[in-house]
Amino acid sequence: MMDNRTKTLDGSRIAAEIREEVGAAVVALGERGVVPRLDAVLVGEDPASMVYVGSKARTLASLGMVSETHHLPESTRQMDLEALIDELNADPEVDGILIQLPLPSAIDTASILHRVDPVKDVDGFHPENVGLLQQGRPRLVPCTPAGIMEMLRREEIEIAGRRAVVVGRSDIVGKPMAMLLLHAHATVTICHSRTRDLAVHTRQAEILVAAVGVQSLIGPEHVADGAVVVDVGMHRITDRETVERLYPDNEKKIAAFEKRGAVLAGDVDFTRVLPVAGRITPVPGGVGPLTISMLMANTVTAAKVRREI
Ligand code: NAP
Repeated sequence: MMDNRTKTLDGSRIAAEIREEVGAAVVALGERGVVPRLDAVLVGEDPASMVYVGSKARTLASLGMVSETHHLPESTRQMDLEALIDELNADPEVDGILIQLPLPSAIDTASILHRVDPVKDVDGFHPENVGLLQQGRPRLVPCTPAGIMEMLRREEIEIAGRRAVVVGRSDIVGKPMAMLLLHAHATVTICHSRTRDLAVHTRQAEILVAAVGVQSLIGPEHVADGAVVVDVGMHRITDRETVERLYPDNEKKIAAFEKRGAVLAGDVDFTRVLPVAGRITPVPGGVGPLTISMLMANTVTAAKVRREI
């Protein structure tokens, strides 16, 4: 039987492996005179979005790619944002366009995502890319589910023929995740906020993906013995009582909390699910780093697709 450490799926290590491969691909493109470039569009002052965009730009630079951030005020009008996207679509130097979500509520997000040139759509949110994924002809696939698939493959976790349950049906994570698992021949169930008796469904899962946005929703009662549990959720915990409840006797977590005033937790109650699960992703260090690495990979893919390399 695996001990608790070997059970943990090390997303950070796999993400580093992917980044190394992306770095090599960037060097190979460089030899052909191509330096992939990603432009990020950030509207407003959401602190988390600003941190995400900054960290994506640094990772791109560390891999030898070019990135540019277009930071617009919260008051930006739909037509001005559309004009910027048209400009980026037409710019031959730009390989990828990333619209950092959420956009301010006055902006029609769906129509903005639709406006991005589908071959520059590194997030895979454009209806054309969604359709290609649905048809089993993936081109640019949303980064979080793509990263999870990479992790499952690299860890040689069998998917074909197994029962997979995805909790969450967002366009960004839940739906594309379910579609990728389906194309990999899993038998897939999708659960959501109207699902009755959630645990009855999730306990059937040999592979369980939680992308719910509800902190620690998934407890041991939701998980079958030996299941592979993937936790997409990301929550900043800022009160000590919750940290102590989630991580009893975990001196490392308490020390991290004392140092930073917050720790991250997922949609899965990691401490209590760990003894039941076969393999499990931690938060942090699980799905998060994979997402960023797949954005890097998608930028290279976009640079190649547009040049038909
Ligand atoms: P979302 O758009 O809010 O979708 C959440 C989904 O969960 C919805 O489909 C919702 O159902 C369902 N849900 C909510 N409460 C539920 C409940 N009690 N029981 C069953 N289903 C429930 O969220 P998202 O964008 O998919 O993100 C999910 C989580 O992942 C968030 O914590 C987010 O921060 C995190 N995330 C992390 C990464 C990463 O890189 N690690 C990337 C993206 C997102 P309905 O459809 O019925 O409303």
